[in-house]
Amino acid sequence: GYHQAIKENRHLYNILQELRGNIRVFCRIRPNLKFEAKSCIEYIGNDGSLMIFDPCKSQNTRKIFQFNKVFGPATTQGEVYKETQSLIRSVMDGYNVCIFAYGQTGAGKTYTMCGSSNGSCEELGINHMALNDLFQISSIREDIKYDIHVQMVEIYNEQVRDLLAEDGANTKYPFVLIFFFFPTGFWLDIISYFDLLINYSNTLEIMNCSGNGGLSIPNASIRGVQSTADVLNLMKLGEKNRAFSSTAMNHRSSRSHSVLTVHVHGKDISGNTIHSCLHLVDLAGSERVDKSEVTGDQLKEAQHINKSLSCLGDVITALAQKNSHIPYRNSKLTQLLQNSLGGNAKMLMFAHVSPESDSHGETISTLKFAQRASTVELGTPHQNKESSEIRNLKEQNFSDSLVMMDLHN
Ligand code: ADP
Ligand code: MG
Repeated sequence: GYHQAIKENRHLYNILQELRGNIRVFCRIRPNLKFEAKSCIEYIGNDGSLMIFDPCKSQNTRKIFQFNKVFGPATTQGEVYKETQSLIRSVMDGYNVCIFAYGQTGAGKTYTMCGSSNGSCEELGINHMALNDLFQISSIREDIKYDIHVQMVEIYNEQVRDLLAEDGANTKYPFVLIFFFFPTGFWLDIISYFDLLINYSNTLEIMNCSGNGGLSIPNASIRGVQSTADVLNLMKLGEKNRAFSSTAMNHRSSRSHSVLTVHVHGKDISGNTIHSCLHLVDLAGSERVDKSEVTGDQLKEAQHINKSLSCLGDVITALAQKNSHIPYRNSKLTQLLQNSLGGNAKMLMFAHVSPESDSHGETISTLKFAQRASTVELGTPHQNKESSEIRNLKEQNFSDSLVMMDLHN
């Protein structure tokens, strides 16, 4: 009965699919960058499956993983964005959306999110294409007036730092003048000392924002933006602020999570408002650091990263099992993203893997993490505004369980 009805009405079907709004997991395999390295990925299916094996072992090590989509090494940025677009557009309809780039360092997280510009060819990333899309929708829609703001923070060693603060970066300029009086090592110490101070004074508190349009870090700079160019300029400032702190620890960008948040406020002619946000998250590298080999700062970093990524996994699992307690508060990352990681939000994880056989171990652990996320079925996501169509559907008693059953076919 129900099944037939859904088949017959494509439009209805789409709305029901919207209602399901589960977590999506896409796996992206980057091209082999080492000329002579063997690949450990054997097969990529159109259905979102991939087969991996370890070419260095003689016994059969083949394993199959299943995701919503697998993008092979030849996939272009545009093709990846095409699969992401509808999710991103739903932000303009009032959904909270969270997109994660997960994977070991070097697997292509920043490439997917920020793109790359080497020489003449520029490859736009998801961030850029998403913002183009949002601004385009905002300019086309006459029924709703939109306001768009952005925030950008980084989480490093469980401290949240504002990346859009103007002043933090400039405090070092006076030192340039007297730089030549002392040896470089002396200045490196001074700089890392000031980094500590700046870090410390810039550490932000995360608040529990009740309303969905609420700010979880009210003290981080928030900038109004009118165009993609505005956002790109802010992202440059963000990258600069990030780079300033990395003088003493040059691998910093892969050891911290960066979160670009786009806040969308809309108001229609009759005064109804929508609030939603899009989080674009470039996670710290997920690689295991051998504890016997690192000490001090690096060990501390590794422990913080392990902790926050495993907290992210725990939150997702708790949501999957519909636990009454979701451990958001165990890490800054999950705390910050709390209102985008739940029944009322949509989430997409890009699991990035390197194809080279020497990355086999890390690749397996990334695939396992992502697999854990992809089995999740979140409950009904709710639009922060309820359309009459959805309301009618609910009144007609289309229960969530039915929706899920049908969509499995
Ligand atoms: P991560 O941010 O995960 O550490 P990067 O995005 O910096 O990794 O990627 C590492 C290198 O691989 C970069 O030089 C990047 O340009 C290249 N790369 C990553 N993904 C792709 C891809 N899909 N196509 C071409 N080059 C890629
Ligand atoms: Mg990176």
